[in-house]
Amino acid sequence: MYRESYENCRLCPRYCGVNRVRDDGVAHLGFCGETDQLRVAYVGPHFGEEPPITGMNGSGTIFFTGCSLRCSFCQNYQISHKGLGVEISTGELLEKIEDMIRNHRVHNINFVTPDHFFPHVFRLVSLLRKEGFDLPVLYNLSGYQSVEMLKSAEDYADIYLPDFKYSDSSLAIKLSKCRDYPQVALDAIGEMVKQKGFFDTFFKGSEIAKKGVLVRHLILPGNVRNSMEALTSLFVEFGKGLPLSLMSQYQPIAQQKDEALNRLLSHEEFDKVYSHAMELGFENLFVQFPEKVPGIQTAHSPFLPDFQRAEPFV
Ligand code: SF4
Repeated sequence: MYRESYENCRLCPRYCGVNRVRDDGVAHLGFCGETDQLRVAYVGPHFGEEPPITGMNGSGTIFFTGCSLRCSFCQNYQISHKGLGVEISTGELLEKIEDMIRNHRVHNINFVTPDHFFPHVFRLVSLLRKEGFDLPVLYNLSGYQSVEMLKSAEDYADIYLPDFKYSDSSLAIKLSKCRDYPQVALDAIGEMVKQKGFFDTFFKGSEIAKKGVLVRHLILPGNVRNSMEALTSLFVEFGKGLPLSLMSQYQPIAQQKDEALNRLLSHEEFDKVYSHAMELGFENLFVQFPEKVPGIQTAHSPFLPDFQRAEPFV
């Protein structure tokens, strides 16, 4: 599967069908912009995830270069659009992950936007397990995954952390060139829940998550209706027990055509979406409240990484 997956790439629902294998120095690039050469921008502990993922020691993140969704407002723009990152072999990455686990005692292995390198990632997980590392393996995803690929991921995953970005397909095409996002993402989350159930920390009282699905939604400024409808869709599909993380950390990165996306989220916008989540009755909610600056936020977000630094989140 390893090589064939890249020869006729259908790893994500873009289904580009290109040959990404870089045998003779030439490879065709699909929408994600990456060949079959593994590239990463950061390997290390990260303290900005939800508390049951971050814990005391941090989540052991691996940020891959490239992305199959490439939203215009991406908060990791340097790696998803600008291609920041270094080439690395599977063996070298394995060593880096093992060093991270030993040196920082991270609580999990957190693959961030790994879809376009899924075959490498599955191999890494197999090797880590063979060497006795039994930390929960977490996939931090855009939500734009095919059910077929998720079935391939099942044996290599413990926790899924998918986004549900859009209920509005016209917004999905405008910001991510992806008209079918809403239905594809709902189907993907359905498959994730079928495999792993809901995020276990809400139900077993354990501090650190071991298994399950937690859905994230980033509220976009000027797009409150999209957020409210996204929450309604999730509620209708999965019920009030669905673990949900409501995020307010949006920062404008690249200049956006939609003017509203060139500013921060207002408190009023956040309150509308948060009230809607409460009215729907979601029972397992993580809420990232906006910073306590009156009106529009102005403070620099601690969640905005700079991957040009050795420590992007500091
Ligand atoms: S992983 Fe990249 S090349 Fe493969 S289908 Fe998705 S966007 Fe296209």
